[in-house]
Amino acid sequence: MVSTMHPIVDRAEPAGPDEHSEAEAPEGAIRLRGVRVHNLRNIDLDIPRDRFVVITGPSGSGKSSLAFDTIFAEGQRQYIETLSTYARQFLHQLERPDVDLIEGLQPTISIDQRGGSRNPRSTVATVTEIYDYLRLLMARTGEVFCYRCGAAIRQQMPEQIADELAALDEGTKLILLAPLVRGRKGKHAEVFEQVRKAGFVRVRVDGDIYDLDTVPALAPRRNHTIDAVIDRIIVRSNVRPRLTESLALALKHGEGLAVASVLRGTGGDGAVWEERRYSTEYACPNCRLSYDEIEPRTFSFNSPYGACPTCQGLGMVGAELNGEAGSDEVCPDCHGARLRPEARNVRLGDKAIHEITALAVAAGRNFFAGLNFPPSQAAVAQPLLREIASRLAFIDQVGLGYLTLDRSADTLSGGESQRIRLATGIGSGLVGVCYILDEPSIGLHPRDNQRLIDAMRHLQQQGNTLLVVEHDEAIMRQADEIIDLGPGAGRHGGAVVAQAPPDEIVRQPQSITGKYLSGEMKIDVPERRAINHKRALTIEGASGNNLKNVTASFPLSALVCVTGVSGSGKSTLVDDTLGRAVARRLNGEGPRPAPHTSLRGVNQVDKLIEIDQSPIGRTPRSNPATYTGAFDEIRRVFTTTREARLRGYKASRFSFNVKGGRCEVCQGQGVQKIEMNFLPDLFVKCPECGGKQFNQVTLEVRYRGLSIADVLALRVDEAIEFFQNFPAIRRLLVGLDEVGLGYLTLGQSSTTLSGGEAQRIKLATELSRVDTGKTLYILDEPTTGLHFDDVRKLLAVLSRLVDLGNTVIVIEHHLDVIKSADWVVDLGPEGGAAGGQIIAFGTPEQIAALADNATGQYLRQVLSTEP
Ligand code: ADP
Ligand code: ADP
Ligand code: ZN
Repeated sequence: MVSTMHPIVDRAEPAGPDEHSEAEAPEGAIRLRGVRVHNLRNIDLDIPRDRFVVITGPSGSGKSSLAFDTIFAEGQRQYIETLSTYARQFLHQLERPDVDLIEGLQPTISIDQRGGSRNPRSTVATVTEIYDYLRLLMARTGEVFCYRCGAAIRQQMPEQIADELAALDEGTKLILLAPLVRGRKGKHAEVFEQVRKAGFVRVRVDGDIYDLDTVPALAPRRNHTIDAVIDRIIVRSNVRPRLTESLALALKHGEGLAVASVLRGTGGDGAVWEERRYSTEYACPNCRLSYDEIEPRTFSFNSPYGACPTCQGLGMVGAELNGEAGSDEVCPDCHGARLRPEARNVRLGDKAIHEITALAVAAGRNFFAGLNFPPSQAAVAQPLLREIASRLAFIDQVGLGYLTLDRSADTLSGGESQRIRLATGIGSGLVGVCYILDEPSIGLHPRDNQRLIDAMRHLQQQGNTLLVVEHDEAIMRQADEIIDLGPGAGRHGGAVVAQAPPDEIVRQPQSITGKYLSGEMKIDVPERRAINHKRALTIEGASGNNLKNVTASFPLSALVCVTGVSGSGKSTLVDDTLGRAVARRLNGEGPRPAPHTSLRGVNQVDKLIEIDQSPIGRTPRSNPATYTGAFDEIRRVFTTTREARLRGYKASRFSFNVKGGRCEVCQGQGVQKIEMNFLPDLFVKCPECGGKQFNQVTLEVRYRGLSIADVLALRVDEAIEFFQNFPAIRRLLVGLDEVGLGYLTLGQSSTTLSGGEAQRIKLATELSRVDTGKTLYILDEPTTGLHFDDVRKLLAVLSRLVDLGNTVIVIEHHLDVIKSADWVVDLGPEGGAAGGQIIAFGTPEQIAALADNATGQYLRQVLSTEP
């Protein structure tokens, strides 16, 4: 969700009664008093404005509750107060965060992980607004060519044409003609008659000039081209009036077209007649196809006006067959350009707009820098170029220079999409805004971290506040201030453990973050498992996306880490090639794998479990209890109560997915969606059930004093206690606690879970299943959302899986995970076309010993290996 508060106003009104004024806030601070949102323990906090502030702490300690559910929610509420009456009518339904006072809040923009666009027509260029500027640039300065015959189309005033001809060398001979027939069969007697009536005496027929009376009879079955000769002129100093007059005649008889045949050379051998065609309307001077004026919307594949009519601007045709990705075909008309033919034939520096957007960002910077404009266009072009160049520079700066501008936004990873929106924020040049970011380091190799930090610093220095929820050590070290929440998760968290600049926080004994930063606490390097290279999964000849005919071996019964800079090809290799190929071999179905020549070793694996960061369910009704299956058991417990038996309630009565027990006003969702123009959808608590999801009579049934809604409000760790006599429920929930999710409530809606939490719920659910010892687990950045201490827990779980004989392949940037792997496969050397190769493999120690390997360079620091 990108939620943007346009900084129309900078409200600094108190959000509630001012009871806490005794503690004066420093000048220029966001002042929070009595924050009790979720698990936050009535905290008071001053966050310095116009600074780069990191909020950290264990998973579940309350970071998002503070950053998103308090500060952003209030920012959104204050913004809606300033809007139309339509929007305001929902204001009373929009919950005010449970806070005594918030003041000094700026307009707020949140950039989170789930942000990406689901519009299939969104591309990197459109979401960054680069496309808006580029469309304008194309419309104002592009050269238009006819899409049928390729001729340049220029619209010129008769005076301009006369100027051009009058400027020819003195003595040049020229003939002005009015085109009448272009390549049509017939004797065309009526055409000659027409010329005679108009008072002209000569015609040009198929290239030769004749007096009207001497024109030979035309062969009726042949194509002929006929022009009326309007005037024959020799260029002299005072020729302009005559030229203008004759041109007007030519244009009139040629229906807006005129031809000037100019004799080039001195008249002897080598002299040639050169033909120039002029048009005063937007039409092809050659094939006469007429054009609408080129406007910015001509280039919009989001509108019927600019979109390719065959594929409606999608670039692809054909619905997905059998749910198989990749079964779409490139549009036969636009070949993926998404645009109508008129738009594809406007060129800027020799490239059409779809050829420009096919460039990677880094190459695009060179292209725009190399453009030259005549002085008449420079004034129009310069400001547009500036906007484009600065946005490209920022995208490059956040490590995404390998992305092409036409890349579909819905194919970007969470981290890429977030960094794109960060670059857009910088490019927009807004000032006085509070940006709230959720783990912008996701997906980024340590090598590129500094560029991300520089970009955030830049945004702050423009005059904005940056509130960044982060676990990354390098980012924390460079922040102006760290707010450390904790000490634990859920009920055990919710307090400000420490708030200080990084160099001071390391001296605060109560801060676990400080202890890790100072090196007092750290994750130990485990014993390496012996690797049997005969037992391996091997993929050969992989060439999907940027992969360069890669052969990669993944040892079995080991923890294997795949590393490399963003865009180097990790997901393409592991998810799109290996994962899909294994799935097809095991299940005989599934999405088509990316191209490769062979896969070996699958017979040693009997199950594949891919655990990604996609939501655990599509509706707000999915939650940890439903996903793990614990809810089925819990509903069964409720049917055994006296009240339920008396009323004859079956398990379905306690489901919010079917009619009966659920609240019908919100259909069991607990929330209602309000669609707002130009704003993200607003979710408000259901006015009927107050968010409880069930109807009143269902809620009357209680088990040990709790209604079904009360049970859903229990945290996982509480529920484990509450249901300790039900082994089936316990077994399903204990896994959640083990991966550090004991703080989640059973009924927490899937829509409020982060990608990392969703991933760990899936992991936990798999852990509770009977395991074969021959399972292949594939995980993409499982450390997302995890604090140092949580990473330790995750590693323990993964290690246990491997000890049972299973294989775990993780894509990771987190150095503590990489150093704990048994085997590392490193891709690179760069992102995009300059990547796609395996540049190293081996144990972490072997990688760390490589002199010129980016991953090794950072591993050295945590392994203390010498190169
Ligand atoms: P963090 O961002 O530090 O991982 P959160 O702020 O997401 O932690 O969560 C802090 C606590 O608040 C947790 O106990 C969590 O279960 C609870 N919580 C988070 N979101 C909600 C919600 N929408 N409703 C109720 N409780 C929530
Ligand atoms: P990594 O996982 O290492 O970040 P990826 O495998 O996602 O790298 O990407 C490798 C290359 O393939 C990059 O140039 C990326 O832009 C490109 N790529 C990835 N997914 C797609 C896609 N769906 N469409 C087009 N190009 C893609
Ligand atoms: Zn098309």
